[in-house]
Amino acid sequence: MKNLAIFLVLLINAASVSADSATERLQEYLRIDTINPPGSESKGVAFLARLLDEAGISYETAESVPGRGNIWARLKGGDEPALILLHHIDVVPANAEFWDFDPLSGEIHDGYIYGRGAIDTKGLGIAQLEAFIALKESGKRLNRDVIYMATADEEAGGLFGAGWLIKNRPELFEDVGYLINEGGSGMMARDHPAFSIEVTQKVPLWLRLTATDMPGHGSAPRVTSSVKRIVRAGQRIATTAFEKRVLPEVAEYFSALARYEEGPRKQMLEDIESAVQNKSFMMTLQLDEPWRAALLSNTCSLTTLQGSEKINVVPPQAALELDCRLLPGQDPDEFIADLETIINDDQIEITKLLGFTAAVSDTNTPLYGAIQHSVELTFENAVLIPSVAAGFTDSHFFRDLDIVSYGFAPFLFLPGERTGIHGNNERISILNLERGVKVLTDLLYKFATE
Ligand SMILES: [Zn+2]
Repeated sequence: MKNLAIFLVLLINAASVSADSATERLQEYLRIDTINPPGSESKGVAFLARLLDEAGISYETAESVPGRGNIWARLKGGDEPALILLHHIDVVPANAEFWDFDPLSGEIHDGYIYGRGAIDTKGLGIAQLEAFIALKESGKRLNRDVIYMATADEEAGGLFGAGWLIKNRPELFEDVGYLINEGGSGMMARDHPAFSIEVTQKVPLWLRLTATDMPGHGSAPRVTSSVKRIVRAGQRIATTAFEKRVLPEVAEYFSALARYEEGPRKQMLEDIESAVQNKSFMMTLQLDEPWRAALLSNTCSLTTLQGSEKINVVPPQAALELDCRLLPGQDPDEFIADLETIINDDQIEITKLLGFTAAVSDTNTPLYGAIQHSVELTFENAVLIPSVAAGFTDSHFFRDLDIVSYGFAPFLFLPGERTGIHGNNERISILNLERGVKVLTDLLYKFATE
């Protein structure tokens, strides 16, 4: 009996593996270690290249530096502006101690595929690839080129990935008019599946504060020190309430959310301009939905701290890094000048580590309409909500080239299913992955075939 049971298990596994190629492929992708740093995205490129080879689709690859690979494949079509399906190969680190399963295992439990990158963004990359291959295999004539692209380094700013390609291979983007990337996805808003379509984003301004002062022995503290200065500066920034500013896109986003709400919250969201003056509403929003509160002002998170390497040594320098995110339209240099006023310490120097500008993609385009159409085919009563992302993605590089770029992952998440992004137990349901392939395939048929 035991042997028979094992045989049956093997048979069932074999059947499900061959039936679920998207699932199997995602599991394999998750097992490839592309944790950034160092990224090692070329390992992911080799995997995607093999799948494209199997599908008979030609591709090109390029490394920005050894090990940091990028790959793209183009299906040729008519003269309409080309469409890029973009995802990033690298993932953020995962602390296995806090996970129920190995973050690099791709294990399946209770209908979920677990692994770092399951949502951000290997799951999206596999769904896009399946749809891209389905488009090729349909034999339909294309009205435009469709490009599948996977890049390095998004999690560290994209300068070795999308940013590098734009700089070093500009010809790839000459005929491109549209791009679909991570940044938006679906959730239930009452009885409506509501898909956020990210059209612009807050931009990062990453800063290092370095304090300098007299070093010494821990047994003889001085009135001032580099560490005291940096702690005081951190405290001043952490307790600053940055001015609230409601962008038109943000007001539109909140009022779209309001449609699916009731009671006082509905009123607040409908008129977010007034609501930002309401202290208790803002406190609740900040506690429960910090990603939404972050859309209403510039923000700074205190992240890394460096002081002495030795407990009894007062160091000559101490440093604090700040992950600030600016609303579109905010001048970064003015913001730094404001921070200097807040810090009010001339022995602290501010260095800019990373900064971008932010453009907005219009929603009045055929691609937006095609997304609406394909989402409705799978999800009854679905609505799209143009949104501003509190985080940033590679889309800003493309918006700067006037490419209409939407953050759109074709997944509908239940409450709690997204908590693993950059956190513990990142996972995606097999149902979501399979439905996502269908939505994207429908989208490509609608938008890119004649
Ligand atoms: Zn990402």
